Formats: sequence, structure tokens, C-alpha cells
Amino acid sequence: MRAVHVSLGNRSYDIKIAPGLIDRLGRECARLKLGPRCAIITDTNVGKRYAKAVFNSLATAGFSPSLIIVQPGEPAKSLKTVQSCYDQLAVHRLERKSFIVALGGGVVGDLAGFLAATYLRGIAFVQVPTTLLAQVDSSVGGKVGVNLNAGKNLVGAFYQPRLVACDLGTLKTLPDREFRAGLAEVIKYGIIYDAKLFRQIEGDFPKLLKREPKMLAAVVARCCEIKAEVVGKDETEGGPRAILNFGHTIGHAIEAVSGYGRFLHGEAIAIGQVVVARISSSVVGLPERDLERIIRLFRRVGLPTTVRLRAGQRPKLFAAMRLDKKVKGGEINFVLAKKIGRVEYGHKVPAAVIEEALNHSTFASNYSATAPKRSEGGQPSTLN
Ligand code: ADP
Ligand code: ZN
Repeated sequence: MRAVHVSLGNRSYDIKIAPGLIDRLGRECARLKLGPRCAIITDTNVGKRYAKAVFNSLATAGFSPSLIIVQPGEPAKSLKTVQSCYDQLAVHRLERKSFIVALGGGVVGDLAGFLAATYLRGIAFVQVPTTLLAQVDSSVGGKVGVNLNAGKNLVGAFYQPRLVACDLGTLKTLPDREFRAGLAEVIKYGIIYDAKLFRQIEGDFPKLLKREPKMLAAVVARCCEIKAEVVGKDETEGGPRAILNFGHTIGHAIEAVSGYGRFLHGEAIAIGQVVVARISSSVVGLPERDLERIIRLFRRVGLPTTVRLRAGQRPKLFAAMRLDKKVKGGEINFVLAKKIGRVEYGHKVPAAVIEEALNHSTFASNYSATAPKRSEGGQPSTLN
């Protein structure tokens, strides 16, 4: 088993990474000195596969778990679901010492973490992420929350889990498109922090796509290490944590303009990272060779690098960028790459440079969001 420590004073915790971890979850939770009662929050897809094992593991270790099941997908990250879950937590009589287990992808993690942060003014929670994206990104770092009609993640908190248990075995049942989308965050860590990791993925992406256990363990652990290091320096995003948003301002705008749901988050930020890599070439001199390597790697793992915009959508994309939560005083700050493995945050980029980069990325897509290809090739995708 691999373990990564997230160092945040008295809110420090471990990320444990191994296949079969769910079966040991009860024992791992027993070390945390939590009360006997807990609620497992999961969605229908994950629940039918893994809830029983999680339940049994907790029960065998002496806990009294109850199960709360929500619908899969982004709509579950709503105040309506929050209300219904609060009611169920009350029915199951969860107390201050009780805890919540988030079993699922990023949606379940964000929702369950928000419930834990607010129910009885905060009870403990444990993350059991079951998507690649959640294992390498959303389950670590303490951002929890739900969506409003006005936008994603507009209500939430920084609330750290007591443990993150990444069971690599759960990734076996993850749909292919979801797995590839998670790789967009993995590649991001290479670009922003670790040229060696980037090179490793370039060399070993076929093994990664086959989800070889050793390869997965190494990559998930390295990504968690990087995230832990960045979050350890800047928990609430006053400064350096911003580098984790590489490609996200444009990616979020693509998600918003295309109507949430057309692109998975990972797909949108793959395109966003390519656009911002182009911007990096003109503003901070990212070498042409690095730009090409970045584009090639996204394509090789089957992620989109371009999107077709119809007339009139470009202004909408800009408007969406300005609405991004990270925008301060109307100025869009970009994280730009000097080279693979090194980025700088807080760059203000003239609109003309963004336009120019978008020109390259908004035609002749080689990818279809509805029918992702195994390798290079495919159909252009068009925003709604
Ligand atoms: P993300 O982690 O990308 O934010 P979600 O929480 O929306 O994503 O999960 C993506 C989809 O994959 C959901 O439909 C969810 O039910 C499903 N899912 C999550 N984990 C697994 C798994 N290990 N096996 C099969 N399906 C899964
Ligand atoms: Zn992301």
C-alpha cells in the first residue's frame, strides 16, 4: 500500500492507495477514533457495485453504517439533494461524533463533503473516491460544495477529510470515457509540476490505458503527492494553489458555453490546456517542441484538443471566462507554462492573444465528444 501525507496542521490526513482497500476500510476508519455511527453516501452506479463491500467492512470493524443513495451525475450536486440527505442523516440519528463516508466520483465527494462540513456544524468524513479524476484531484484538498442554477460550485467550503482511501480496484469498472477524462488531470500534473511524470506518461500511456495496476498505483500516488504538496503550501488558494487551475479558465468556459454535460470536465480541460499552452508559447516562451508534446499526448490518450465553435459563440466563451470564480476585479489571470514541468500564475493576457490561441483550437477537431476514439482520429465536435 502507498500512503501520501497531507500536511495541514491539526487537519492533516493520509491518502492511502492500494487495490482492495475497500475491504480494509473499516480497519482504517477504526484508527481514526470516530464514533460508531456513520452514513455511506453513494450514487446508484457505484452503490450497486461497491456499497455492500464498504458496508460490510465498516460493520465488521464495529461501526453501525447506514446507506444514502443519490442519483448519478452532476444534478445530484444540488441544494435539493442536500436537503433530502440532511433529512436522512437526521433519521439515522447521526451525531457530532458520527462520520460520513463518500463512496463515488467527484460528484458524490463534493456533495458528501458539503454535508459533512455543515451537518451539526461539521462532522468527520472519509473519502473513498472511485473515479480516476476523484482519486487524483477532487478527493484531495478539501474543496466541497454544490451547484446553483447560476453556476457550478457556488456554495461550498474548504473542509478536509480525515482519510482518503483510493481503492485502485474500483477503477476497473469505470467507463472508458470517464477514465480518459481523468487522464486530463494526470497530464496536467506533469505540465504544471513534474516533467518526469509527463515523460513517463508519454512512454507508458498504453499501459495506463490498460489500467495496469502497478502503473496506476505509481501514477495515482504521484499525482496525490503533487496535490498534497501544493495544497499544503496554500490551503485556501491565496497564491500557489492557483497552478492547479492550469487550463481550467478556458475549460470551464467551454463546459458552460456547450451546456453542461456535452463535455466531461476532463475533456473540456484537455482543450483548455492546449489553448493555454498556445498562449504560453506567445507570452512566456513555452518552446514549440513542448507545445507539440502536450498536444500529442492529449491526442494519444484519446482526449479532444480542439472544439468547433459556431459563429457568435466566441463572445459567449469570453463572457463565460469573465464569470469564472477565479476572476478578480474583471481581470482574467492565467496560469502559463514556461516549459513542461514549470508554470507561473497570475499572468494577465491581452484579449488579442487569447483570440489568436483560440483560432488554432476552434477548427478541424479530431474528436467527437459523443463517440470518443481509442486513438487519434474522429469527428469534429461542435458546441451547442
Ligand atoms: P467525476 O469523478 O468525474 O466528477 P462523477 O462523480 O460524476 O465524476 O462520476 C462519473 C460517472 O461514473 C457517474 O455516472 C458515476 O456513477 C460513475 N462511476 C463512478 N465511479 C465508478 C466506478 N468505479 N465504476 C463504474 N462507474 C463509476
Ligand atoms: Zn479539474
